[in-house]
Parts: sequence; C-alpha cells; structure tokens
Amino acid sequence: MNTTTIDLHAPYRQRIKDALGNPHLKTALARATGRMAVQRTSAMRAVDGEQLRSQVRQMKEYVIRHLPDLLEELEANVTANGGQVHWAQTATDVHGIVLNIARQANVKKVLKAKSMATEEVHLNHALEDAGMTVVETDLGEYIIQLNQEPPSHIVAPVIHRRLEDIAEILQEKLDMPPTLDPQEMTALARGKLRQEFLTADMGVSGCNFAIAETGTVCIVTNEGNGRLTSAMPRVYVAVMGLEKIAPTVEDAFLQYQALCRSATGQQTTIYLNMTSRPRQPNDVDGPDEFHLVILDNGRTDMLAEGYGEALMCIRCGACLNVCPVYREIGGHAYGSTYSGPIGAVISPLLHMDVTNAEKLPHASTLCGACRDACPVKIDLPRLLVDLRADQVDDGKAAWFDRTAMQGFVQTMQSRARYEAAGKIASLGSNVMASFTGGNLKFMPPPLAGWTQSRDFPPFARRSFRELWQARQSLRKEITGERASAES
Ligand code: SF4
Repeated sequence: MNTTTIDLHAPYRQRIKDALGNPHLKTALARATGRMAVQRTSAMRAVDGEQLRSQVRQMKEYVIRHLPDLLEELEANVTANGGQVHWAQTATDVHGIVLNIARQANVKKVLKAKSMATEEVHLNHALEDAGMTVVETDLGEYIIQLNQEPPSHIVAPVIHRRLEDIAEILQEKLDMPPTLDPQEMTALARGKLRQEFLTADMGVSGCNFAIAETGTVCIVTNEGNGRLTSAMPRVYVAVMGLEKIAPTVEDAFLQYQALCRSATGQQTTIYLNMTSRPRQPNDVDGPDEFHLVILDNGRTDMLAEGYGEALMCIRCGACLNVCPVYREIGGHAYGSTYSGPIGAVISPLLHMDVTNAEKLPHASTLCGACRDACPVKIDLPRLLVDLRADQVDDGKAAWFDRTAMQGFVQTMQSRARYEAAGKIASLGSNVMASFTGGNLKFMPPPLAGWTQSRDFPPFARRSFRELWQARQSLRKEITGERASAES
C-alpha cells in the first residue's frame, strides 16, 4: 500500500472508474463525509447560521472588491512589523522565493503545516529536489506523506483511508505494533514528529487568513503543529493565495467562526495561531525571520474573467462533504489539489497541471447541496454552468454534447421533425425493450454508459399530442351523438 490506487495523471474517465471500483474508498468516504456533514449542520444550527453566512458573504464581497488596496495594506503592515513580503505570480516563482530564503539561511530540514497553497504549487517536490528534507506535521498529511499520496480533501487529507488502512501504513512505515487504537497511532506519530520539530531549520505553512490592518498571518489547527511549525524553527515562511485576506481583526474572527463550524463542526478549533512579526529580543520563542509569500497563480485572471466569486472560498470543505459526486469518487479522482464542487470550479481556472481539467465542471449533478452548505453562499452550481457555457462559446464542448445539442435545436425548430423524432424514439426504444422485459437494459454507444448502472424506460407508444387528439375526437363524437339524440 505505498501508492494511491488512483493515478492522478490518468485520463479523467479512468480515474473515475478506478475510484468507483474501490470499495475501501467508498467505506472511508461514507463514514467521514456523513459525520462531518452532520456536525456542520448542528454547529450552524447552534448559532444563527443564516445570519453568520450572510455576514461572511458580505465581508468576502468587500474583500474581493477592495483586493488591491487590502493587499497593499497587508504588505505595509507585515513589513512595518519586521516581516518580509514576497509576490509570486506563478508556482515557479514560489519555488524560487522559498529556495532562495532556505539557501540563505542554510536550511537542511523543513517542517510543513498543512497548506493547500503549497500543495497547489508542489512546493515539497521543489524543496526535496534541492536536497532538503521535508516533513509534514499535520497527522493526516504525515500519514499520506509516509504513503506517498497527495491529500484528497481540503481539511481532511487522509479521508480516503479507513482506520484499518492507516494502521497498515503505520505498521509498514514506522514498525508500529498491530493496533486499531487511534490514540496509540497518534501517540506514535507524535513521538516521531517531536524529534523533527526539535531539529528543523525552517517552518512552512499556508495561511487560513491574513489580517490586513495588523499584518498578521493566521493558521487554524487542532493539533498544535501549526504553532510549532511557525514558532520553533529559525525561519518561518507562510504561503497564501492572494484572496485570503480579512480586512480587520473583527472580520478575521467572523471568518474563523464560520470556518470552524463549517469545516469540523466545532465552535472553535483547539489552536488559532497568529504571527505578526519575527522574534523580538524579549520574546520567549518565535522565528528569527518571518516571510509571507503572496501567490497569484491565475487568481487575478479569475477575477478578470468573472469568476471572482470563487475567490471568496474560505476552504472549509463543507461543499465536498455534501456533494453526491465527491462522496462517491473522493478527491483523487478529480486529479487536482482541489476537489469537490469548489475544486471543479477553480482547478480549470488556476494555473495548475491537471489532466483533463476541462472535464471537471461536468463532475456535478448541479443539485445545489454545495451552495446550501457553503458558509459564504458561493453559487457553485452557477459557476459550474458558466464554465460549461464558456466551453461552448470557445468551441471546446465535447463532440457528443455539441452534436446532441445541435440535433436537439434542429428538432425543436420544426414540428414535423419533432413529431418524427418522437415516433422514431418510441418505436426504437419499445422494440429494444421488448427483448429485455419492459425496460431498456442496454443502449448502444455513446449512450451505453447510462444503462450500465440503471434501466431506461422506453418512450410511450403514443405521444401526449396523439392522446389529446384522440380524446378530442372522442369528445366530439359523443357530443355529436348527444346532439342528434336530443333532436
Ligand atoms: S466553496 Fe464554500 S463550502 Fe466549499 S470549501 Fe469554499 S467556502 Fe467551503
């Protein structure tokens, strides 16, 4: 069990097939997403959830409208506090910046706190290629790093593994005695990680939000690894997507409240780590150097192309937990760092190397559960439809979709064609269904996928129009007979 069963670079259909064929994945997802969705619902009910969502939405709309000013304010305050701000346009820029910082500080070992932004730019690979040791310190991330897998969920990176799978990984990689006791497993990992914390040179984290008015980087964890990563090594680097801003301290706590309740169903997480500056002479701990890397990687293009709403995301993962597609296939099938409904929107828009990214907006039933769960009220189904419409406008729609829609338009533009199509569909489907006992159990390609997992009832033998005409004729007949009887 040293690699994921799903090859992230395999074609989209293959990834989906592999995910659906993995019964352990299904068990792991059903257990975890169901629990997280229930916890979120009760945590939001415990407060006025609707009001909280409206307030967070309002705040994030303000952020998106004033992004350039807020970023300048953040930079000015981080710098005034003694930190250093770096601007990265691309993933390669992030690699260059972080490697430069690491080399200047003679870094050999890097600690990582969980971070989607660094996953997005594959920072670990760049650091390892440069000869450094990188250790993930979030328990879930640590387990998947041992197993050489990427995360499969925004807040629960190892959600695709059952407890039994995790035990197997720890036995194989860390010589753990056989046990299924989560506390024993956690204690073992914690003991190993303690040694790493004591000997690391540099800590790297993401940033749940940065407060513009104070120049403070905030990371939200339940394990305390964020605090150790940012405070123990000599150098601390936070990497944030440029949208992760809260204008004021008050706004930050509003977002924090929505994040905790939506992500894990908690009122507050165990730790909220806030870093505003490097260590000062009288401080008991803290890094000698504090760097903030602000990442674009396609985000300003998203704004320019009308997808700014997706930048309001606070990465809580709630939309994943309620998505009927994610709950079946899990995160790796998306082939991207970001999965689920929000991943299907932003993966094709960010500058990421995702195989068949153009297919992701179609990995949705558009049921709207994600929009209802989102603490920022992001209209994910509309964004997915917009992305699909863009593909049509750009002439990039799939051949079958394009041909089917053209055929539909042609048919609907002529009554004769519409009626003829109805007759052909009725005749054809009834003949085929007569061989399989009433419902169609098999359809020819390209429709074969439909009947692989469900029946297809044949079209009615007589159309509504025909039934209506027959009824009208009968009525006329009866009325005529009555009239002649009365006369
Ligand atoms: S889109 Fe909404 S629900 Fe999904 S991760 Fe972002 S904030 Fe959470």
